[in-house]
Amino acid sequence: MKLLVIGSGGREHALVWKLAQSPHAEKIFCAPGNAGIQQERTEKTEQPVECVNIGAENLPGLLAFAQEQKVDFTVVGPDNPLALGIVDLFQKHGLKIWGVNQQAAQFESSKVFSQKFMEKYGIPTAAAGTFSEAGKAKAFCASLGGKCVVKADGLALGKGVLICTNQAEAEKAVDEIMVSKAFGEAGASVVIQEFLEGIEVSLHALCDGKTAKIFPTSQDHKRALDGDLGLNTGGMGTYSPTPFLNDAQLADVAAKVLEPFMHGCVAEGIDYRGLLYPGVMLTKNGPKILEFNARFGDPETQVYLTRLENDLVELLDASVSGTLDKIELKWRPEASVCVVMASGGYPGNYAKGKAINGLEAANALPGVKVFHAGTAFKDGQIVTNGGRVLGVTALGKDLRAAQAAAYAAVECIQFEGAQFRRDIAVKAF
Ligand code: AMP
Repeated sequence: MKLLVIGSGGREHALVWKLAQSPHAEKIFCAPGNAGIQQERTEKTEQPVECVNIGAENLPGLLAFAQEQKVDFTVVGPDNPLALGIVDLFQKHGLKIWGVNQQAAQFESSKVFSQKFMEKYGIPTAAAGTFSEAGKAKAFCASLGGKCVVKADGLALGKGVLICTNQAEAEKAVDEIMVSKAFGEAGASVVIQEFLEGIEVSLHALCDGKTAKIFPTSQDHKRALDGDLGLNTGGMGTYSPTPFLNDAQLADVAAKVLEPFMHGCVAEGIDYRGLLYPGVMLTKNGPKILEFNARFGDPETQVYLTRLENDLVELLDASVSGTLDKIELKWRPEASVCVVMASGGYPGNYAKGKAINGLEAANALPGVKVFHAGTAFKDGQIVTNGGRVLGVTALGKDLRAAQAAAYAAVECIQFEGAQFRRDIAVKAF
């Protein structure tokens, strides 16, 4: 099979790495990819993975490439091409592609859509209101005592969520999003949720339109600095499993969330085939959904795919063809920890083009896989090329062993300005 993976981050490197292990994968292309992806080979045919310089949002370019190369199966990593309708476009041209269609992508591209859906189908979520008028939005914030979370409706690069502790902050947040339009049209309407306290975990479920198969739990670390301080980022590290839900509790959450979700999709005529990634707060009143994402998490994918035993080509194929009920997900018993190494200054301004050393030594450590995110080749040397640069991932017999292995690998790697958190997985201990 010829495969095409769309995207260029750590998530896509993990997808390519895992797909390359499948006996079905004869050739893999990645658009646009990165330096680490370019170093992978398919296990069966030992074909190098080929990166092609087509952006993930260039839908006509991707379609033409897939047709030209007679790609058998395309796998989409990021949310933007899904929200733009890449799945619908490829399917219209008779091409097989994995990811949610444009209608299903609304769960991520519109928080108002998601909130209304959750309320209609009884999915546990925060008390909330949706508004397209600033005055009414502010009045609702006041009814929550100002302790609330104001969310721009549309995609805002993960920045459109403002946590407020009093009414003055809440009014400022509403003005920023709805009046000053800090996130453009994404802020034409807002969801305002009560502020929830608890432990936040990431869930992932692979869906095929009828069946949803839940993954073990994982936990992301969104803030830039140790102790959950500093600015919000795309994610500075993850680990799996988490100690916060045992198997029975996870099954209970799945029943409370996935069953009404899949039922609601069928009722609304939404064909949900792809990955569902709910952000969940485990509160003293039970699990509450904060948001839905409609694709694999980054860096959750790095810890999930290092633990996954199934053939990923077969899994994604079953997700497209509606046969997931015949497959059992199998996970290695080991724990996995991913530590993100970022450019100095991230998530603010940062420099690119810094030489990265020590990658071979890190990858040679037992259980370690260094996934690349923002990297490129320059004059034969691997250099930094983004905010999040590497996802240093390690398996270990338990979380402590995995954490020790991941940090031992981080110590092998140097680039100017490198920053990373030193407390990934500490919450589990
Ligand atoms: P979202 O993009 O909606 O997941 O929000 C981004 C982050 O804001 C989440 O990962 C949470 O840490 C936080 N957050 C969102 N909604 C709430 C809420 N209702 N209560 C407390 N924290 C929240």
